[in-house]
Amino acid sequence: MNGVDKKNILIVEDEAQISRFLQLELEHENYATEVCADGREALKTALEHDFDLIILDVMLPSLNGIEVLRRLRQDKQTPVIILTARDQVVDKVTGLDIGADDYMTKPFAIEELLARIRLHIKRSVAPGGAALVCGKLALNPDARVATYDGHPVDLTKKEFDLLEYLMRNRNIVIGREKLLDAVWGFDFYGSTNVVDVYVRYLRSKIDDVYGITLIETVRGSGYVIR
Ligand code: CA
Repeated sequence: MNGVDKKNILIVEDEAQISRFLQLELEHENYATEVCADGREALKTALEHDFDLIILDVMLPSLNGIEVLRRLRQDKQTPVIILTARDQVVDKVTGLDIGADDYMTKPFAIEELLARIRLHIKRSVAPGGAALVCGKLALNPDARVATYDGHPVDLTKKEFDLLEYLMRNRNIVIGREKLLDAVWGFDFYGSTNVVDVYVRYLRSKIDDVYGITLIETVRGSGYVIR
């Protein structure tokens, strides 16, 4: 592997011992790294340069990690793994809400962090690229952009999630209960009718507009995209 192929990771951490440790481990795994120990400086660096992934501590001088992430997300979809101290449950939830891709609690096992880094770098795609394609329909889950034949399709969060799930499970008939669990979550106390309603929304925005049959209804079983 030459230098050009190296993935570039920004480490945002004010505890020198931890950032040094992360830097050594990551460089050993053949990543290029940059370290910021200050929130404002980190935001500036993350906006000015394109990193493949950012490891972001929460408690930071000048601007905390949650605020760094919130401002970053207004411009960029760089994958972010948040590092939280053991008792910062609130930060964890807030972080995921505002667009963190993952979180780890300190102290963490380096092997687990490395595994998650590999996963998120693999998952991310170049801006404007599409990770999921079905005919003329393209979905970029990171940028949360859907297009049909290059035209943007305006979807709500749940519509996007449902479509993404069906596209990831192409050719598999999925029941309403399973879709409800996967898209709305186990803790969603709703009728499976909500699935039918959202399938109708998707059809009105895609099938009806472009004259195709994207989501098929399999009577008694569920829905499928082929
Ligand atoms: Ca810290």
